[in-house]
Amino acid sequence: MLIVSRGLDPAISMVSGRDLDYAALRARHEGAEVEVTWLESNEPSYLLYTSGTTGKPKGVQRDVGGYAVALALSMRTVYDVGPGQVMFSTSDVGWAVGHSYNVYGPLIAGATSLLYEGLPTHPDPGIWWKLCADYGVRTMFSSPTGIRVLKKQDAAWLRRHDLSALKWLFLAGEPLDEPTAQWINEGLGKPVIDNYWQTETGWPVLTLLPGLDLKPIKFGSPGLPNLGYKLRVIDETSGADAAPGQKGVLVIEPPLPPGCMTTVWNDDQRFLSSYFSHFKELLYSSLDWAVRDEDGYTFILGRTDDVINVAGHRLGTREIEESVATHPSVAEAAVVGVHDALKGQVPVVFATLRQAAADSPESAASGMLQRVVEQLGGVARPARVYVVNALPKTRSGKLLRRSLQALAEQRDPGDLSTLDDPGALEECRRALERGPSGGA
Ligand code: AMP
Repeated sequence: MLIVSRGLDPAISMVSGRDLDYAALRARHEGAEVEVTWLESNEPSYLLYTSGTTGKPKGVQRDVGGYAVALALSMRTVYDVGPGQVMFSTSDVGWAVGHSYNVYGPLIAGATSLLYEGLPTHPDPGIWWKLCADYGVRTMFSSPTGIRVLKKQDAAWLRRHDLSALKWLFLAGEPLDEPTAQWINEGLGKPVIDNYWQTETGWPVLTLLPGLDLKPIKFGSPGLPNLGYKLRVIDETSGADAAPGQKGVLVIEPPLPPGCMTTVWNDDQRFLSSYFSHFKELLYSSLDWAVRDEDGYTFILGRTDDVINVAGHRLGTREIEESVATHPSVAEAAVVGVHDALKGQVPVVFATLRQAAADSPESAASGMLQRVVEQLGGVARPARVYVVNALPKTRSGKLLRRSLQALAEQRDPGDLSTLDDPGALEECRRALERGPSGGA
């Protein structure tokens, strides 16, 4: 493990043979010339284990040549960043976005990558925009979770700094709900572009291409297939192409484009069985539900494994989340299916409120229920709404719905090693003990 001391805890105990001290290594190697090592283009460049929300992690293996090509292309066509320009990605460098667009993408493009280690709200909620102003950031890349954190604060924080150099805000990694997209778009006065991709793909699958030819933005949709991707939305059982407006599974027709994973580390068989064995045809399954509109814009409706069954009706928890999030008091919501003796499963909401609404959880909860009934019908009405101060997430910002579901069903919440803030799960446990703010 590489240990970087921030000087906060002088008593870090190093385990010999396992830990390396960053400061000592830097002193030893600073200024060293490292010779280029030439690799055949199919050699592995790195391994990334898929996030803990998807069960037993798989080592996603990427190559060298194809990946470099995908990054070089996308820096121009997707992110619109060239030599000498500045890109700011708020991702952790340990995640797929961090590898691709904090490190390799900007370096390959001859651009500057701005790295920031810290919270979006410290020392104040304007820090990201101050950094954009100070360093002349042209393209910023963050996540819907990051923006929802800011959404709890006054929108005036978005306008305190000179953002004249900033051209684009990209958001990726999880569903970008329409109210959040709208809030940040209006607050910043900049185009907000939703990107859909997976650790497995390494670069966007669905996006708009502002560096090439910007098509109209439709909030709620990450847009159109990226260059190199042959995408289809197909019926889960028949495998037939879904008509516009009809829900199906998003699949990639092989060969996968450059940049995408080449196999599961040490396990070609698992690569095939996890991704290519869901349909009669050889197709890569994203394991995400999707629907396309008449113009070909794709909307992601959540993981195929997030589906719940309420009295014989199949509901995507993501659709209910989207509906709950349209309520103006809601900052963020997670919906999980909880076992119910009568209906099989019922949807249960865990929600955080925007600051202005924090003192009236009951009225917020009843407003959320009303939204769901209006938008999705009575069958989707959540059985219970728990208002909490924080939701459990992985360090990459993904909601840990499985753990919430386990808690709500009085089961063990499982492996919590990917949890960012253990206090959030504890908070949800206490909320379950206190009882719901609405529902039933
Ligand atoms: P990960 O590999 O951990 O980044 O997770 C990838 C998954 O995150 C996808 O399969 C989607 O379920 C979700 N995801 C990523 N980006 C988006 C997006 N823009 N809209 C909706 N879901 C997304």
